[in-house]
Amino acid sequence: MAIDSHMHINSLVLKNRQKYINEIIYNPNIESVINIGLNIETSKECLELNKNSKFYSSVGIHPLYIEFQDINKIYELATNDKVVAIGEIGLDTIKNNLEEQKKYLINQIIIANELHLPVIIHSNNTNKYIIEIFKNIIKPKYGCVFHCFQPNIDDLYYLIDCGYYISFAGRITYKTAKKSIEVANLVPNDLFLVETDSPYFSPEPFKGEINKTENIKYIIKKISEVKNLSYEEIDTISTNNTKRLFKKLNKDK
Ligand SMILES: [Zn+2]
Repeated sequence: MAIDSHMHINSLVLKNRQKYINEIIYNPNIESVINIGLNIETSKECLELNKNSKFYSSVGIHPLYIEFQDINKIYELATNDKVVAIGEIGLDTIKNNLEEQKKYLINQIIIANELHLPVIIHSNNTNKYIIEIFKNIIKPKYGCVFHCFQPNIDDLYYLIDCGYYISFAGRITYKTAKKSIEVANLVPNDLFLVETDSPYFSPEPFKGEINKTENIKYIIKKISEVKNLSYEEIDTISTNNTKRLFKKLNKDK
């Protein structure tokens, strides 16, 4: 059974949200989902949605939403039983306030290390800056995943060396995904996760439509083709990897 390690059900308009939640709860192929916060408000909503079975969450301040955010609130929210990670956090060059973003990233890694939680990293053309922070300032001590990894082989080797995880989303199913496929080939079998990043970035054959957790099967299928293993093997391996990284997923089982 699959775990969707990164999704944003909060980003769906309220009208449709319950329908998608029910589809997840009643889908026999989905073990659980990690619903990812983008700022204080959505992180609080994530906690609220954890009352649904199969729902876990991650709380954090995304680099594009750092304005008016009180980082102490993240600490408070992260102590909740069903919060499995700090994220998504990171750096993004869409806005030109990288120095400000770095402060949020560093402070949230400090929180994760204090609470013994892994971090979920968002990197948009910023792998090298994030790795610089890991090398020179602070490293996540309790695990890390680069979600929707932007392929770069040198960065990949550094992350593998650290024992950090790479997660694959819909992009790997696209015709333009040559480099992601190369990464999938190189990443060790015990260091990858699968995610939908729903409602964004639908995999083929639904590219451009609203993405749903059930589409995780297309990502698992693609990785199984790339790695030459069966669908069931990739399904099991990725679920085991996800539980190894996010230890609080195992708590009430
Ligand atoms: Zn995301």
